[in-house]
Amino acid sequence: MIDFRSDTVTMPTEAMRKAMATAEVGDDVYGDDPTVNRLEALAAEMYGFDGALFTSSGTQANLLALMSHCERGDEYICGQQAHNYKFEGGGAAVLGSIQPQPLNNQDDGSILLSDIKGAIKPDDVHFANTRLVSLENTIGGKVLPQSYIAEAQQLAFNHGLKIHLDGARVANAAVAQNIAISEITQYFDSVSICLSKGLCAPVGSILLGDERLIGKARRWRKMLGGGMRQAGILAAAASLAITDQVERLAIDHDNAGYLAEQLSMLTEFRVDLAQVQTNMVFAHVNDGVDISSLAVKLKQSGILISSGSTLRLVTHADISRADIDTFIGELKRYLK
Ligand SMILES: *Cc1c(COP(=O)(O)O)cnc(C)c1O
Repeated sequence: MIDFRSDTVTMPTEAMRKAMATAEVGDDVYGDDPTVNRLEALAAEMYGFDGALFTSSGTQANLLALMSHCERGDEYICGQQAHNYKFEGGGAAVLGSIQPQPLNNQDDGSILLSDIKGAIKPDDVHFANTRLVSLENTIGGKVLPQSYIAEAQQLAFNHGLKIHLDGARVANAAVAQNIAISEITQYFDSVSICLSKGLCAPVGSILLGDERLIGKARRWRKMLGGGMRQAGILAAAASLAITDQVERLAIDHDNAGYLAEQLSMLTEFRVDLAQVQTNMVFAHVNDGVDISSLAVKLKQSGILISSGSTLRLVTHADISRADIDTFIGELKRYLK
């Protein structure tokens, strides 16, 4: 199958499978798993934080961050399109009694600083306590400008707020700008990073923060049922995601650019090429083209796409240039 639905579908590499098979393990709830401990130390060191926590998913890492920064009755400011507002089942509200304050995302994925400033509540019994600003990078495949992030950090600091990054794909953001991941993470009090997307680990995310935050998050993780035992089997693959898979993302970005160009040559689709900055391609589809029936047909040719009102295609380690040519060929055939 050629699977464009997401970069979450990537298979673990051969090196990951070998590392998993031979990983030295222990009971991580006792802090005894050397492979998990090495992963957490490595991530903290590489990304410039005191501590790191290996979590079962990105959703869990974001939830732990929100619950560790905020108390019951606090609120976090985020984008309307933020994963940790829109796509995580309302977890912060359900499990943390934390209120989201979503604000419009601009076309480039940012939230206007004036909107953030305007949404910070004064200290008044009528209001929830504004505690945290949460940004996302990449967001919808787009990279937040470094200058914007620096200004957002300053704004949060000036108002006594903490600032979190949902960095599920922060490695893509770094590679696209040819900078180190730590150059992005330096602006944040906490960061979550998915290792199971473009970086190919089978399972797991990392939460970064200071010792106090990571200590709180470790407690919440256990309460939420996320205390894993011989988790070194997973951490062994996750370590290779960090050390061996980041540079390779440049290929996914090139492939996304190529895919976007090929699609834009078909009259049925409109693609804003300037918006294709990493591994995601969004195409507007002309009236009269039904994506869900296209998806059914393409599946018969071994190609998987998500159906929705716009077409979202994601490139990753298991999609080659030749796969893209196959897809475009089949697409042309079915559109005829
Ligand atoms: C995928 C994703 C998450 C959540 O990751 P899961 O591991 O699927 O829970 C969080 N934020 C963003 C931006 C994501 O793309």
